[in-house]
Amino acid sequence: MSTKKNNPETIALHGGDYRSDPTTTSVAVPLYRTTSYQFNNTDHAANLFALKEFGNIYTRIMNPTNDVLEKRVAALEGGLASVTVGSGQAASTFAIMNVCQSGDNFISSTDLYGGTVNLFTHTLKKLGIECRYADPADPKNFEKLIDEKTRCFYAETLPNPYLRVFPIKEVSDIGRKHNIPLIMDNTAAPVICKPIEHGAAVVVHSLTKFIGGHGTVIGGCLVDGGNFDWTADPKRQPLFNEPDMSYGGAKWGEVVPQLTGANVSFAVRARVVLLRDLGAPLAPDNAWGIIQGLETAPLRMKQHCSNADKVVDFLKKHKNVARVIYPTLHKGEIAARSKKYLKGGNGALVGIELKGGVEAGKKFIEALKMFYHVANIGDARSLAIHPATTTHSQLTEEELLAAGVTPGYVRLSIGIEHPDDIIADLDQALTESSKTKLKAVS
Ligand code: PLP
Repeated sequence: MSTKKNNPETIALHGGDYRSDPTTTSVAVPLYRTTSYQFNNTDHAANLFALKEFGNIYTRIMNPTNDVLEKRVAALEGGLASVTVGSGQAASTFAIMNVCQSGDNFISSTDLYGGTVNLFTHTLKKLGIECRYADPADPKNFEKLIDEKTRCFYAETLPNPYLRVFPIKEVSDIGRKHNIPLIMDNTAAPVICKPIEHGAAVVVHSLTKFIGGHGTVIGGCLVDGGNFDWTADPKRQPLFNEPDMSYGGAKWGEVVPQLTGANVSFAVRARVVLLRDLGAPLAPDNAWGIIQGLETAPLRMKQHCSNADKVVDFLKKHKNVARVIYPTLHKGEIAARSKKYLKGGNGALVGIELKGGVEAGKKFIEALKMFYHVANIGDARSLAIHPATTTHSQLTEEELLAAGVTPGYVRLSIGIEHPDDIIADLDQALTESSKTKLKAVS
């Protein structure tokens, strides 16, 4: 459906060009469990492989169920095209590998999901791709690290545990001066932030989190903003300007706009080169599951954010809480960024430092009755975890502190239950954890 309205609630249900199934008129998006697609004739097959025509070839590379999800997520983010992959982790990997090859470097924010740090610091390094880390407190830190081999900037919109909103426009502007695209992981802030509107060239998502929303499916995607000129500086972006001998010498920055009439070279290269060669597609069953979640993601985000605001008010006044970490509670410029970039809510993630340190943190988590103790965020249910001993445990002490993880930090992902019930569970767990501490001291 083409709609002039850009409202996320409508896009989540109608975004993209799916209206009903062309053969059955099914309104709900069908699950196409097929690996392959019958070609009309040999010319049709040859044209599809030569990218002279676009259409289904093989489900590793595209699938009609995934296609609906891809178009809806692209529309939600204000991008031109998107590519789904098997996990958020695969999306980050593809995002970097789509612009970097051995010998290249990229500059990433220090505020990152622990799994992304591992990927960037260790696995990509083994492939000859260097990650340079910049503290986003000052956007100029990104500029200082650029050299002639720098291919992209990378950051998260609302990174936990620090929950400092990233200066998207400031860093994107620096990048654009040097023809360097900014890739934003918007996993924690769908609907409430649209990084492409602020200049990001690419958005990646772990669809596993708020978009899937029910803790049932792992998935990821890359959204091409269609707003970056990949041919402006051929030396800066060799993968888009040099002939790709794996695809008949295609120069992706030139050939894709010629063939499609759209500036979607990033998405097309990710699909026809990286999905083709590295695999890791999103299974159509999982795409279907994520579509169910996406339909209500804007509604859920409202409830997540409003509940989180109430939880923060409660925690700020609680005698056993030493500090509450939340985007709006930072000071000065960092707090101002949350106002500038987050619209309609401040996200569902809340950090707390308990007065009793590590022990109190552990006891608190064990005393929670309704919250689940899991390594996830963005479920409809409320979740809690102690990052230092779990999600971030593979980081060094230095890396932990750089990421804002102190020993007593507890991360909460506030769900969509009734706020009174969420607060009641936190209240009883805080009381329990402090009782234990008193006993231990006496
Ligand atoms: N990006 C962020 C911000 C995440 O929190 C996660 C997972 O927790 C990922 C990426 C990786 O996503 P997935 O678990 O779907 O691979």
